[in-house]
Amino acid sequence: MAAYIPEEKITAIKNASDIVDIVSETVSLRRAGRNFLGLCPFHTEKTPSFTVSPDKQIFYCFGCGAGGNVFSFLMKHGGLTFPEAVNMLAGRYGIDLPTRNLSHHEKKKLTERETILTLNSEAMSFYRDCLLSDEQGKQAKGYLLKRGMTRKTIDEFKLGFAPDGWDHLVRHFRSCRKPVEMALQAGLIVSRKKGEGHYDRFRNRIIFPIFNGQNQTVGFGGRVMDDALPKYLNSPETPVYNKSRSLYGLNRARQKCRETQTVYVVEGYFDLLSMHQFGIENTVATLGTSLTADHVQILKGFVGEGGKAALVYDSDQAGIKAAQRSVAVFQKGMLEARIMVLPKGHDPDSFLMAYGPEDFLKAAAQSMGMIPFMVESAVEKHGLSIDGKVRIVNDLKSAMLAIGDPVARSLRVKHLAERLGVDETVLLQKIQRTAPSPAKATWLQGRPGVIKASKPPPVRGETYRLERQMVAMMLQFPEMIADIKRRRLMDHFTDPVLAEIGRGIIDHFAAADSDIAGLVSRWDDPEKKAMVARLSLTDEHWDRDGCMNLMTQFERTIRRKDKALQMRIEAAEKSGDVDLLAVLLREKQQQARKTVEKQSGANH
Ligand SMILES: [Zn+2]
Repeated sequence: MAAYIPEEKITAIKNASDIVDIVSETVSLRRAGRNFLGLCPFHTEKTPSFTVSPDKQIFYCFGCGAGGNVFSFLMKHGGLTFPEAVNMLAGRYGIDLPTRNLSHHEKKKLTERETILTLNSEAMSFYRDCLLSDEQGKQAKGYLLKRGMTRKTIDEFKLGFAPDGWDHLVRHFRSCRKPVEMALQAGLIVSRKKGEGHYDRFRNRIIFPIFNGQNQTVGFGGRVMDDALPKYLNSPETPVYNKSRSLYGLNRARQKCRETQTVYVVEGYFDLLSMHQFGIENTVATLGTSLTADHVQILKGFVGEGGKAALVYDSDQAGIKAAQRSVAVFQKGMLEARIMVLPKGHDPDSFLMAYGPEDFLKAAAQSMGMIPFMVESAVEKHGLSIDGKVRIVNDLKSAMLAIGDPVARSLRVKHLAERLGVDETVLLQKIQRTAPSPAKATWLQGRPGVIKASKPPPVRGETYRLERQMVAMMLQFPEMIADIKRRRLMDHFTDPVLAEIGRGIIDHFAAADSDIAGLVSRWDDPEKKAMVARLSLTDEHWDRDGCMNLMTQFERTIRRKDKALQMRIEAAEKSGDVDLLAVLLREKQQQARKTVEKQSGANH
């Protein structure tokens, strides 16, 4: 735990924040009994097993085992450090944080990201000023208005202008005493190739600030206003800007995505701005990169269970290529995606300007699923001659193979076989043969899309099961903790992790009345955090009798173990195995010592 944030502040923040509120910013949740359920943002799944408990203020995924409290969620999902998660929540819930006594290392880690965010925000204001007031900004403003952007859009998306010239921003940072070295790290300026000094990365371009889910400026896109190249220039990856997780417009799309369970994915900045301007706010734009698995997970969190993505492309050819690129990532991410191809010569921006939003939505309603789209495109391209059919199958087999769900795959294969008039089994064989390695063939038969991050858990015996149940009982029926203490049952735990958690519960609950989210904070180890979350949420009904029975059962196993040891000692004596006897007697001695210690400890 970070030493420089006082414990009582962390507690205050934890008490003020609501985990359901925080999680539902990125994961669509629905109520299920006392808890909320949603699709896990940490692994791929089709049926929700990601559970959030408003009573206990914790989350746990029964699919992949991720779990913890509100801090753990922000750290794992937002990639924040603990101090950043604390800071973010403090800001959100209006709790003042003293920032003294930072260690050198903590200061460095904290300030690097924070400094970059501050510089980005400073740069955003600078570019905005240039657009709105600077003499040079007039032309840029004219350009934006000519492209149909309203003043409202320009304000809402905080568009700006980087003036022509080499060092406007460098000089601006110097004049307000900002650390130029950090501006370099933020990707805002670039080192000169020859000699010393720096120059501005973005010059004579319209500037589109890129925001993360918390509305922080993480990077920038810059577009030229003429035919100069490159047409688009983006910030490089920095400690705050991760391209494979960033999407333009994400911060403003959330609400509408949730309402419509649909997200439109467009390619360009102006496409996105037009979509928003015409009220189709459930839109994000890829920033010149292909969609990644992370993007798909993020979008899935936005549209929720049963939601879908619609990829909007400019023309047939580009659409087919893009669909081919993203089919695997959508299939593996188990997010239904449809392809919407606009009439030749149109992009979403020009289409909306020409025909308006109703026609756009009408065209969207006719969009096809990814595989049917690819089948029809291939049929159109190759025709249905024998040669054509062979080529179609070759074009489609990797897409077919990428379908994670075996039922869906088999249905698609069947459909393709019918469409081409070929035998289904032959087609299936042809597709299976493409599987590149035995490893891949295995996952085809396995459960679809389940990513196993860690090695399978070791086989646990009856003792472990009982110990786990005891800990679950302590978490869910804390009235029993006094009994467990009195009967000294914790001393007989054999699993070190469960024993540690059990002792932690006793300590924690003695001070803070069954506060589970706080208990989670006791451990830095994410596995222990997840274990506490898991055992707090197991679906069991606890009553006093059940608890008493469990404790009696546990005591019985302790006695049985003592007895077993005694029997082994006797057997060793009989057989004259002196070495074994020595080992067993030492074991017995150790146990006896433990008991004496416990008893003398109890007398104090
Ligand atoms: Zn999960």
